[in-house]
Amino acid sequence: MYDLECENLTKLFGRHRAVNDVSFEVPRGSFFSILGPSGCGKTTLMRMIAGFETPANGDIYIKGKSVLATPPNKRSVKMVFQHLALFPMMNVGENIAYGLHCQGESKAEIGRKVTAVLDRVGLPGVAEKQIAQLSGGQKQRIAIARCMVLEPDVLLLDEPLGALDLKLRERMKIELKLLQSQFNTTFLYITHDQSEALIMSDNVAVMNAGRFEQIGSPEQLYNNPKTGFVAGFVGDSNRWLGRVVDVAGKAARIDLEHGGQIVATLNDDAVAAGMQVEVFVRPETISLRSDNHEGNRLSGVVDSLLFNGANSRVLVRTGHGDLVEVSLAVMDGSSPIRPGDAVDMVWQREHCLCFALAGWNDAS
Ligand code: ATP
Repeated sequence: MYDLECENLTKLFGRHRAVNDVSFEVPRGSFFSILGPSGCGKTTLMRMIAGFETPANGDIYIKGKSVLATPPNKRSVKMVFQHLALFPMMNVGENIAYGLHCQGESKAEIGRKVTAVLDRVGLPGVAEKQIAQLSGGQKQRIAIARCMVLEPDVLLLDEPLGALDLKLRERMKIELKLLQSQFNTTFLYITHDQSEALIMSDNVAVMNAGRFEQIGSPEQLYNNPKTGFVAGFVGDSNRWLGRVVDVAGKAARIDLEHGGQIVATLNDDAVAAGMQVEVFVRPETISLRSDNHEGNRLSGVVDSLLFNGANSRVLVRTGHGDLVEVSLAVMDGSSPIRPGDAVDMVWQREHCLCFALAGWNDAS
């Protein structure tokens, strides 16, 4: 059973297709993110679901019923905006109670619901506080409480962590996920930040230029991207361009654009000899151990070490001038790596993600 279904949704601004034939469904009580770069159409899609934009084509179903003819305030959908849009002149309790007043609920019922929702977001006893007295994280939770008190079927969140500093954003990712499972309400979250989408979501749709490229769990998108765009946008990757020399079974030999040859296990059936391809290799799948004779090997010189805690990297410059990122986490630590060291980078052929280059054709 789905709380939200979108069917062939399209939105035109003049001749520009901001959202282009998008279909997806969100299972009840799940956390679903739409991930894509700025301008790809995320907000427009969300505004159609909320009822603030009218689609040129397609339909939207909440709990199985079309809501196209339902005005925004009558849809069982609430929206948290990036800048939260809390009313600064009202205290916390009044902010949360506002929607309930508009629905004509009794004073006693409103008081009970406000207290209950403040408990659920972990902020009991703040009803009398002014908005300006709250921390950034508390404001986030109040913005969510103000929506959740109305018991929507779907909560829409439009980059709500965008205005927070990095540390608070990291903490709020986890809090939002916990809040979602506690309310057991469907959350539809839009973001351009892949780490937010991967950490919080049950499923993620990767959006590019108005279309969905792939929908899947974070693990599926990371380990088994279906397009070069998804491989490049989700997670860190080294990316090379190349041309396929030949294909034998599932193995393709590829001449890299700047020199060097590798072998990739094909995950894209469209790839054939002579084609231009893009190849992605995750930094954590490359090893600097020279005893590994299987798979691919590229030689280079350590350019620099980038310390970033568990996500630290070694940058290696190949003889052909390419810079390759290798994860420091895969080093065994017995022999420290220093800039200027000559190294061999080795990785298994199945760790190459290889896709026909978008826009490539035989004539090019
Ligand atoms: P961001 O992450 O920067 O908010 P987004 O992915 O949410 O981007 P949208 O805001 O949905 O993208 O915009 C999609 C495209 O539609 C963009 O090219 C934008 O310029 C265009 N667009 C959005 N709203 C309008 C409008 N009211 N009139 C004309 N064009 C619009």
